Parts: sequence; C-alpha cells; structure tokens
Amino acid sequence: LNRRLAEFGTTIFAEMSALATRTGAINLGQGFPDTDGPEAVREAAVRALREGRGNQYPPGPGVPELRTAIAAHQRRRYGLSHDPDTEVLVTAGATEAIAATLLALVEPGDEVIAFEPYYDSYAASVAMAGGTRVPVTLRPHEGAFRLDLDELRAAVTDRTRLLLINTPHNPTGTVLTREELTAIAELAVERDLLVVTDEVYEHLVFDDAEHLPLAAFPGMRERTVTIGSAGKTFSFTGWKVGWVTAAPPLVTAVRSAKQFLTYVASGPFQYAVAEALALPDSYFADFRADMLAKRDLLAEGLADAGFGVFKPAGTYFVTTDIRPLGESDGFAFCRALPERAGVVAIPNAVFYDHREEGAPFVRFAFCKRKDVLEEAVARLRRLA
Ligand code: PMP
Ligand code: GLN
Repeated sequence: LNRRLAEFGTTIFAEMSALATRTGAINLGQGFPDTDGPEAVREAAVRALREGRGNQYPPGPGVPELRTAIAAHQRRRYGLSHDPDTEVLVTAGATEAIAATLLALVEPGDEVIAFEPYYDSYAASVAMAGGTRVPVTLRPHEGAFRLDLDELRAAVTDRTRLLLINTPHNPTGTVLTREELTAIAELAVERDLLVVTDEVYEHLVFDDAEHLPLAAFPGMRERTVTIGSAGKTFSFTGWKVGWVTAAPPLVTAVRSAKQFLTYVASGPFQYAVAEALALPDSYFADFRADMLAKRDLLAEGLADAGFGVFKPAGTYFVTTDIRPLGESDGFAFCRALPERAGVVAIPNAVFYDHREEGAPFVRFAFCKRKDVLEEAVARLRRLA
C-alpha cells in the first residue's frame, strides 16, 4: 500500500459490520436502512432491467432521464436551476462524487478544509488527490456539535483550495444554520475558494431545522459542487447512485476524473432513481416523519440507558457521550459492546485527526425497524 493510503487501513464500517455478523449483535454501526426503499421504485428498476434500459454502459454523464430528474428536484426543492446536460453528473454513489471532485480539483500540496469529525472517505480522498487536510473541529456546545466560525476563518491560508462541508452532518447530526452558511459563503467569496458540499442527508432534517443548500447563497452558484445520493434519500444504499450538481466548468472537471474511476455505474438503477426523484412530496414527508419517530425512540432510549445524548437535528445518526457511563475510550467501548450488550456502534474518534477530541463519543444509527431499535435499547439499558 502506498504512503498516501497507508494510514487508513480498513474502513470502520466494514470492521464493525463484520463484528456484528460474527457476534450476531444488532448493527447500529454502519448507516444503512434495514428496510428497502419504495416498492414502486424497485419495480421501476426491474422494468428497466427487463426492457434492456441500462444493461449496457449508460452515457458517461448519466442517463438523460436521471439528469433531468436531478435538475427538477433541485428546482422543486430549492429553486436552483441546473442545465441537465452541462450542470449535472451521475456518479457511483456520493462516495465516487467526493473522490472524483477532489481528484479533479486538488493539486498536490493544496489544503482542503473539512469539519472534524468527518465522514471517513473525505480524508482518504484528500490523500489520494495528494492534498493536505486541515480539520476544523466541531465542538459540543449546548447539546449540539457547533462550528466555530473564527476557527474556520483562521484555518484558511494561501494554500487553501477548497472547503469540504457536510450538512446535515454525519456523524454529529448538526445542520448548519442560515447564519453559518452565510458566513461560509462570505468567506469563500472573500478568499476565492471552491466549496464542495455533501448534502446526502438533505431530506433528513427534524423539528425546526431546515436544510439550506449552500449553492443558493450569494456568490456560491459558480463556486459550489453539491453532492446528493439516492442511497440516503430513497434507502437504496446498495444501488450506488449519487450525483453532482455544479456550474459547467466544475462538472466538466469532475467528469474528467470520474470517467477514469468507474466510467459509469448502476445502469438500470439510474432509470429507477429518476422515477424516485419525481415521487410526490408525501414520500419525502413520510420518510422524514418515520425517521423522526425512530430518532426519538433511540435518543430517549440511549438517555435512559445513561448515555449523554446529542439529539440530532438531521441525518440518521445519534452521537452519544459515554462518560456518564464511567467510560472514556469509545474504541474500547465499541469493541466490547457486542459482548457486553449485543449491539454494534461506531467510535467517533475514527472521524477525527485529533483523536483525543473524539475519544468519548460513540455513534448509533437509527435507520432500523422500530422493533430492532426497541430491542437494542432494552439491551443497552442493562449497561447502566
Ligand atoms: N457522505 C456522507 C456524509 C455519508 O454519510 C455517506 C454514506 N455513509 C456518503 C457520503 C456516501 O454515500 P454513497 O453511499 O452514496 O456513496
Ligand atoms: N455512510 C455510512 C455511514 O456513515 C456508511 C457508508 C460505508 O459503509 N462506506 O455509516
């Protein structure tokens, strides 16, 4: 393994899902739903497959039906208009979108600022692109992990190429506010930075939180790469359909890298996701309401079990503090948890460069059936 990747080892998600399989523990680690997305969308995939749509290489940028549907979604939800031919690119999940974007836009030695804790592929993708990651730590404040805007501003140097942001944020559940996004946009314009914004949890925001796409802020349309994923929005993580929306030069750049990663992927599924994106608003509202009920079930259960709970404003993850349980090392806690309680969770420390900052935090996923969450909570209560 080369020096760029040597530090990464096996992803925590593979490690923890293998642990769940080996021990038979309930897997609240890796974030994937245990209920598949809508029947009608699965049927659309079967139809595409039977009718021979997408069984051979689809067009490089993605099938026109899907690109049109992505553009229509961005307009319907956010009032953002994108030309499906020049401003939309279909990728093999958001993971490829992130990798291709960084490979296309980062020169060796460029600095990439990302919030810490960060989704694990960010660090590896920055490394593969030869960039240097510069973490800005989100810190607990009044029950949520918050961004310190002064720290963000101070992190920008003459070598900063881009900001890589994520809202709603995995693993903390933080949703950036209008004020924070305004400040990020002002900073990007002032320092002439590109911003890559991972919005895969755009439909999972709760209570009075609102998802605001960064691309809609003044000065941002031309300098923002927005990333979405059908895996999250429609509960088909195995289909690996993601996308990028951005101005033409940025999409062209990302496509240059993407064509040599996978060239194309997910043929028949692209047609199905095009239909999914056109589902009525009620689909999105029901999805959100269902996840909200699950969030409350798990968050309350974890609090009863003695965890410190950061109730998430978005995503399908709850970050907890294990110190009230008399524990301080999330790694050790998660490695022992299947044995102790029959549950698998993720130590947030893996999402930090400053591992000590993340040591006492542990993430649980709630995109699981209600009975599964109830059983997990019952088991975790025995820890106290
Ligand atoms: N970004 C974030 C923040 C995620 O949580 C995930 C999935 N865990 C991804 C990107 C990757 O999405 P996909 O499965 O579409 O590659
Ligand atoms: N995004 C998912 C999570 O955060 C996992 C994706 C993966 O396994 N690569 O749990």
